[in-house]
Amino acid sequence: MVVVVAAAVAVAALKRLAPQRPWGVLLAALLVGLLVQFTPLNQSASRALQDAQLRHLAPSTAATDAVVFDIDDASLAALKPHFGAWPFKRDVYALAIDLLRDLGARAIAIDLLLADSQPGDAALAQALARQGAAVVLAAAGLGHAADDAAALGAGSVSAASLPASSPTSPPTSPPTSPAPAPAYRWPTIALPAASVWPANAPLRLGVITSPLDDDGVLRRLPLWHEVGGRHWPLLSLAVADAAAPSAPLPPPLLDAQGRLHLAFPARQAWPPVRAFSELALAALGQQDSTALRAAVQGRAVFIGSSALLADAVMTVNGQASGTVALAQTYSALQSGTWVRPPAAWASAALLLLGLLPAGATVWRGRPAPRQDLALAALALLLGAGLSLAWLSSLRMAMPWAAPLAAMAAGLAASLFIHQRQQQTAQRALAHALAVAAEAGKAKSQFLANVSHEIRTPLNALLGVAELLASSPLSAQQQRHVQVFRDAGQALHSLINDLLDLSKIEAGHFELDLAAFSLHQLLERMAALMQPRAQEKGLSLKLELAAGLPDGVRGDRKRLEQGLLNLLGNAIKFTTQGGVRLHAWPDDSEPGTLCFEVADTGIGIASSKLDAIFEPFAQADGSVTRHYGGTGLGLAITRNVVQRMGGSVQVRSNPGVGSVFTLRLPLPSGELPAAEPSHQAVAAALAQQPLSVLLAEDNEVNVYIFSAMVQAQPIRLDLAANGLLALDMLRRRRYDLAFIDIQMPGLDGLGVTRELRQLEARSGRLRTPVVALTANAFASDVQDSHDAGCDHHLPKPVSQAQLLGALAQFALVDPLAQVDAAGCGDGSSHTAAAAAPVLDKAAAVQRMGGDAALYRRIAEHAAVFIESWAGSFDAACAEPNPDRAWRLAHDLKGIAGTLGAPALAQAAAALEASLHPGTAALAPDTAALVQVHEAIVPVLVALSQGASQAAP
Ligand code: ADP
Repeated sequence: MVVVVAAAVAVAALKRLAPQRPWGVLLAALLVGLLVQFTPLNQSASRALQDAQLRHLAPSTAATDAVVFDIDDASLAALKPHFGAWPFKRDVYALAIDLLRDLGARAIAIDLLLADSQPGDAALAQALARQGAAVVLAAAGLGHAADDAAALGAGSVSAASLPASSPTSPPTSPPTSPAPAPAYRWPTIALPAASVWPANAPLRLGVITSPLDDDGVLRRLPLWHEVGGRHWPLLSLAVADAAAPSAPLPPPLLDAQGRLHLAFPARQAWPPVRAFSELALAALGQQDSTALRAAVQGRAVFIGSSALLADAVMTVNGQASGTVALAQTYSALQSGTWVRPPAAWASAALLLLGLLPAGATVWRGRPAPRQDLALAALALLLGAGLSLAWLSSLRMAMPWAAPLAAMAAGLAASLFIHQRQQQTAQRALAHALAVAAEAGKAKSQFLANVSHEIRTPLNALLGVAELLASSPLSAQQQRHVQVFRDAGQALHSLINDLLDLSKIEAGHFELDLAAFSLHQLLERMAALMQPRAQEKGLSLKLELAAGLPDGVRGDRKRLEQGLLNLLGNAIKFTTQGGVRLHAWPDDSEPGTLCFEVADTGIGIASSKLDAIFEPFAQADGSVTRHYGGTGLGLAITRNVVQRMGGSVQVRSNPGVGSVFTLRLPLPSGELPAAEPSHQAVAAALAQQPLSVLLAEDNEVNVYIFSAMVQAQPIRLDLAANGLLALDMLRRRRYDLAFIDIQMPGLDGLGVTRELRQLEARSGRLRTPVVALTANAFASDVQDSHDAGCDHHLPKPVSQAQLLGALAQFALVDPLAQVDAAGCGDGSSHTAAAAAPVLDKAAAVQRMGGDAALYRRIAEHAAVFIESWAGSFDAACAEPNPDRAWRLAHDLKGIAGTLGAPALAQAAAALEASLHPGTAALAPDTAALVQVHEAIVPVLVALSQGASQAAP
């Protein structure tokens, strides 16, 4: 009960104190230690270890100062003819006492409670009164039920059978008060019958009952007993007094309860035990007593009985008879081989050692279970050493329960706090992670919002710039517009990079897997980058290994993004030599392809090879100044490639060049059937104007859009918000609808969903929907497809993309204007204004990627175009209609070859207005003006070497 309460208190204290301070550990250890120390727990829990110490202290050789005569079963049988059945006539004790005195015994103890009168009592009383060795008779403390049961040396007398009224004040010797030590109190005491009291002589009495430990083992005996204010010595002590009345023993060290601690020996070291019959028969003169003399002379003789109601007592060394125990106690008192009770200071020292680990926790300021365990082991070793030293030098057997309990409590508390602290730390970490994740999400959301806000006006700027570029401009104006567009494009790609990276970092990254033509992709990329390389006088080579598959399955856009980034860097950081894009299948791993972008540029210091893949990292601070860039490209590339299950590596040699290698799993894939050719679409053109709806809330975007499709045979209706758009779509069927996704109120996806439901309900012909959005991620594309959109155009939408969508979904032929290759046939009837000035990349591609060839052609073409106006005027003035037609025809062809579609178209229109051989016909003035207008920007573009990327 006490233990449970204490444990509860300890746990409660720990819970309150522990999480904050390690003091709780020490407190718990101390509490538990003290609790064990000052309760019976200490004894019972320490028993095994303490008994081992007691056995170690027990004498190993038999005592020579005492001898026991045991009335055993054999003695009973042997003496029955002489002294009757048990209990004997008491003459036998009188005879024995007389003989023992004759044989030279020092003192005689009769460890039998002679409480009732028996025949022969008078003889015994007379023997007691005679001169000679003193005789001590037994008295028994009575009244404690438990003790009565285990009454030591109660012999054949059952406590319950004793007369209640024993004589109260027999004459005793020696005087017993004042008692030298705390005495064990008995309610009552059983004394020998008055019939055996010696007349006119002191009666020596010794108490033979003794309380045992609660496990029934005899380890300690009270030296003094108290009944009704009178003190009585233990039988062994009374015998010691009787044996040497003139030389009292040095007082033994007793415990606080006045108990003598014993180390009881094993049987071989007991005092000698002889049969009582030997003594009695010698006393009767029936046996020779010579041998007895040797055994008895100079010794204290204890007569007791192990027969009948066996008087056995349990010791740390096994069972012994009560008489042997008393004799052995006498011997221990004589020889000083008793055991010193554990001293308070020694217990305190051990307890302190037990508190060592807990103390260290306080000292350290935090629990550290491993170190605490090591300290506990050290404390145990120290304690064991001390304990052994005290055992051998002081004969002191220490109880170990309290220090061990304190140590265990300290360790447990330390572990408990450690775990709680770890849990707290883990919770804090989880919280921090959650906060960080939340912050990351908020950041990417913020970035997405901001970039949307930036893109909207930027789209307007880029759109207007595109419109401006395709209007008739002076050379200087062309240059200004070009700067305007380049800057806008750079800003646009930076924003895309930022958004891309933040999306990737926030985990919003999906792969858009589909089969595509790898060869076409690589060739297109090479063609796209060719002008940039050329501009810097670098070669750009594309090498496709023999076994490289064409149809593969993967995320085409992401692969393109990664490779374009590497190619862009390679060209940017190279001033001499060239760049090579090499692709080959990885033979060691089927389905894996390798792409290598090698340059002969400035290279990268080996110490920077890892850093350049970090966001915003550049090889050195001067890179931005010299080359521009943000340091985002490689970070995105690596992220993207890793998410595709691939890797990117770099080798570099500063001053020599760099090689970036991508390894990507790109399994073979079935290529989708080719889309209908532009010509086929054109052939299927409907002649009447098409009805097109534009749902867009931004006025500038509406203006740009309208301007871009102005020349098309379409009727454009406008809706300024989603609800309006839906209303208009309900009223009539459009051939095509362009719907902005981000609109206030009902957004574009909502409009499309409603439209699809409407069509399903009414069975109306389906209106193709092209979604317009600032976002271009796979998830956005997927969302618009899920909503029922047919196509997705990311803003800023170029004119070419718009016309492409018209061609694909509404069967308008915008192609004559965007396809420079097809412009020479003169079939177009729409304005040339929308076509790019000089689509060099497409032209180079048509020349098999041979940029040098293009350069040579361009040089000649520039000379031809520069002088064309003069030549044409001359031909008209001559008049030489054939030559004029020829000049128009050649201009159309050359412009087509160069990739100048607007010029090619204008020339084609002029050519059509002239008929070879018909000298009379003058050229169509409008067509001629258009040619003149188209020539200027082409010449500017050629003179700048500027490129205009293909849409
Ligand atoms: P950016 O090119 O915008 O600076 P990147 O992330 O693409 O950002 O590249 C990071 C840095 O790595 C560059 O600034 C440059 O220092 C270095 N680097 C990348 N590619 C090359 C290359 N081919 N040759 C030399 N240095 C390179």
